[in-house]
Amino acid sequence: MSDPRPRLGVPVDEWETDVLVIGGGLAGLVAARVAGTAGARVTVLAKGFAGADGVSPFAGGVALCLFPEDDLDAFLDEHEWACEGLVHREAVTRVAAISGRLWEWLAAQGVPVEREPLGTLRRRWLRVGGRSRVPRLALESVSFMRHLRRCALAAGARILDHGVVTELLTGEDGGVAGAVGFRYQEGRLFRIRARAVVLAAGGCAWRGAHMGVHSAMGEGYGLAARAGAELASMEYCTSYIATCSLFDSHGQDVLAALGGRFRNRLGENILERHGEPDPAPPQRLTLAMLTEWLEGRGPVVFDLRAIPAERRRQWERDFPLVARALARTGVDVFAQPVPWIPGFTGSIAGSGGVRTLDLAGRTTVPGLFAVGDTACRTPVVGAGSGLTYLNLSWALASGYWAGAAAAELAREGLPAPTEPAVEAEAWNRALAPLGREGGTRPVDVLRRLQRLVVDPERNFFRSAAGLKSSLRDLEGVWDDVCRLAAADWHDLVRCHEVEHATLTALAMFSSALVRQETRGWHRRLDFPRRDDTHWRRWTVARLEPCGERPAFRVHTIALEDPAAFDARLPAAEVGVLP
Ligand SMILES: Cc1cc2nc3c(=O)[nH]c(=O)nc-3n(C[C@H](O)[C@H](O)[C@H](O)COP(=O)(O)OP(=O)(O)OC[C@H]3O[C@@H](n4cnc5c(N)ncnc54)[C@H](O)[C@@H]3O)c2cc1C
Repeated sequence: MSDPRPRLGVPVDEWETDVLVIGGGLAGLVAARVAGTAGARVTVLAKGFAGADGVSPFAGGVALCLFPEDDLDAFLDEHEWACEGLVHREAVTRVAAISGRLWEWLAAQGVPVEREPLGTLRRRWLRVGGRSRVPRLALESVSFMRHLRRCALAAGARILDHGVVTELLTGEDGGVAGAVGFRYQEGRLFRIRARAVVLAAGGCAWRGAHMGVHSAMGEGYGLAARAGAELASMEYCTSYIATCSLFDSHGQDVLAALGGRFRNRLGENILERHGEPDPAPPQRLTLAMLTEWLEGRGPVVFDLRAIPAERRRQWERDFPLVARALARTGVDVFAQPVPWIPGFTGSIAGSGGVRTLDLAGRTTVPGLFAVGDTACRTPVVGAGSGLTYLNLSWALASGYWAGAAAAELAREGLPAPTEPAVEAEAWNRALAPLGREGGTRPVDVLRRLQRLVVDPERNFFRSAAGLKSSLRDLEGVWDDVCRLAAADWHDLVRCHEVEHATLTALAMFSSALVRQETRGWHRRLDFPRRDDTHWRRWTVARLEPCGERPAFRVHTIALEDPAAFDARLPAAEVGVLP
């Protein structure tokens, strides 16, 4: 395959770095900070503006923060129940146990976190996601992320904003060797050689109906799968979080803990009606909401009238983004119940992602690490959701461990060279849609994808027949992907996004077909029960060359298998923690 660059005459920037971090969200910036502190040359590439794009700045800022004196076992028992199994208990223990120290470490560097008068971190105890008491920090995620960017820069990281990675490069030894892509604001290509690559490119939400998820298009999964890495638990790339129908919201879980109640058209408390605890884990709340709609008792409203005024004011202080949106509607949702809907959040409140072998985020490709929402989070959130408290702590811990391990690996020297034919193919794929005439538009392909993925009747209530039909429809979508046309560099970003989102959908439906039980976010109408006898297993999906169209081969691995996950503390320590 010939290299298209000379034909297009586009300038190429060539760089070399020790650790390449792809993604400028919480996980990526923490990895950059840690690797930089450990002495590595670090380059961060972000599709938008690192520290201001990705999901992280939209987070409700409810972050798990445990201290040694807390009852870890009680937390774990409740967590395992709410996650409906598939959790690796040792892995959650490690993340929970390090959470307090890591937040303390960030606070010590000036990252804005509330403190008690005596100087300790201010924690609030909250009923969230079906758990009765979770010690959490309240972060204001926008200023928090802005500060984190400064922390990464202070550690010497070079940040390249508006850079889209389109392909990972592998060396002749099969290990990762860098990445290629383009910077759409300048119309320039880049090629970066790196000994270690930390994939922190977020999750996949197929531009679903929830605030903050617009940039999460599965690029981390697609890039990793193409480079030969395995994906895991991809059936858990579907999730819905209740969101107000009048404005984009987060913080719903906290409102529920303060006394908010979801009611159907008859005024009944829907969780009570479905025999669920209140607040319920998000997957149980979603099931109750959708059932009410499907059985004709919708719309479902969120009744916030029982929340005392002082608690409401505290909530508005804790969730300023939503409070402002709320004020703009002109409707007092605390006085007048308004409809809430299940907003699709894809893998973000789910847990599928790049398979990691250990807590340092090593993948099956040497030198490639996966962190945050890009990594499979089933070991820590099982079949349920970590969105309302554990995701942020996971992004922080996984970024910390991977940053340290990547810096250590980079000391071993340069990556193996990449074969010219491999690189030419990477450039071809990167640039193919540019200037193609009469092709498909990315927005049209995305609409087709969304009909398959976001619609709960297809992707929440699953069955073998429905999944096979979705896989057949995806073949047509893939044919459209192969004919994508980009009018300019910005359009080219959208082309790559829908391509990766299509690969992610393929991995999701293929894995969902294999898991023959109902558990957490994965519901099978044809296998309606949880089956612990046969399904204490994770699915593993591998992209196989299969003629014209891609296909994933899926197998399973038992949780107890020592090869499934190594939850021992990573050896690499850089002494950044107090
Ligand atoms: C509305 C909302 C509220 C939430 N609230 C909470 C909460 O209260 N508590 C909690 O624990 N969790 C919460 N979460 C989840 C939490 O925010 C995320 O799990 C976490 O922030 C993920 O961080 P990340 O760094 O992995 O990904 P992201 O923050 O999504 O960062 C991904 C980065 O990768 C970049 N990128 C993507 N593709 C490419 C590419 N091809 N090339 C270069 N760069 C690329 C993006 O531009 C971005 O910089 C919430 C999520 C949402 C959507």
